[in-house]
Amino acid sequence: MTRRLSLFALAALLLIVSLSGCSEPLREAPITLKGQIFGTYYQVIVAKPMRRDEVADIEAGILDELEAVDASMSTYREDSELSTFNRSPVGEWQSLSPELMQVLKISRQVSKASGGAFDITVGGLVNLWSFGPEARPEKIPPEGQLQERLAQIGPDKVELDTEAGRARRLSDVYVDLSGVAKGYGVDQVGDYLEAQGIENFLVDIGGELVLRGHRDDDRDPWRVGVEVPDERRRVAQYVLALTDMSVATSGDYRNYFEEDGKRYSHTIDPRTGRPVEHALASVTVLGETTANADAWATALSVLGPRASLEAARREGLAVLTLERDGEGWISRVSPAFAERVGDATLDKLGIPRPGQDPAQDSDQDNEGT
Ligand code: ADP
Ligand code: MG
Repeated sequence: MTRRLSLFALAALLLIVSLSGCSEPLREAPITLKGQIFGTYYQVIVAKPMRRDEVADIEAGILDELEAVDASMSTYREDSELSTFNRSPVGEWQSLSPELMQVLKISRQVSKASGGAFDITVGGLVNLWSFGPEARPEKIPPEGQLQERLAQIGPDKVELDTEAGRARRLSDVYVDLSGVAKGYGVDQVGDYLEAQGIENFLVDIGGELVLRGHRDDDRDPWRVGVEVPDERRRVAQYVLALTDMSVATSGDYRNYFEEDGKRYSHTIDPRTGRPVEHALASVTVLGETTANADAWATALSVLGPRASLEAARREGLAVLTLERDGEGWISRVSPAFAERVGDATLDKLGIPRPGQDPAQDSDQDNEGT
């Protein structure tokens, strides 16, 4: 009798469990998943309702992707694949993961096309200027040390053997992928979501984005704010309606240190070994992949106001630059950018069309959207 009762109880319990499995509550769209990674934040927005267990699975999958990129490419981790590569004997080939090889290939390509403005071997200088993992007080490094490290760098100091999936350092350079790995991480998460059958989403790691599909049932595109170059407030200067593309922004207005009232950016000019000094406050690149857009945003911010737009024109890159101008700034776009967003949008935002001289109307400081 007791036995029969307990069997009955068990059956009832199973029924309850399986019923609750069916009626797993839905989470309404948009579903936002957030956290910290690569020393910054990440944010994924999925524009469809999902069951709670589905959301948990997706979140775990996203974390796996991010963790894999971090374990491979972080210079903040002694045990990362990249840190191991950076300690490897000069001249000795090292077998690397396909992912790391891929990012090294993208870096090499952007280095070449930017005339060396993007250079992953600047790591030693990044550390010297106290922006990297070598913790030190913020100060201007001694000239001797700077020249010593500068003499060792150059994109050709890392040799790739793509056939065999291996690479080697040709001098004692410290490879730093911080200028491209966030973008690559975004692409990896984006590919993962697509593989899960998710079509409408946004992935954002520290301001590097990929956008797919639409943000709601009305099929509205995603809206991306390009911030004003001001570290004290996070305000969108321009809001762009975009989709099915990557967006990367490089800016000197948040990650920097100041000494004697002078601002030192975390972007290093590989020609001088010093933080970039020109008036270019931010560069936004629209592209096919976020890794590529991310690397180009850094490259263009090295090149400065004029050369960046020349390179963008030459390479057919869709670029928006904000240049400091007294208390305000001047906005400029490349032809490919104008083509992507359309002249009507530029006119609405008060951004001069490419070819027009923006100096004529430089008082667009407070123009909203
Ligand atoms: P931003 O979004 O401002 O470009 P990123 O994080 O994408 O910032 O890239 C800046 C990081 O890239 C720096 O912190 C440094 O580690 C690295 N870096 C600095 N200068 C260069 C350069 N000339 N080429 C490649 N990477 C660089
Ligand atoms: Mg970058």
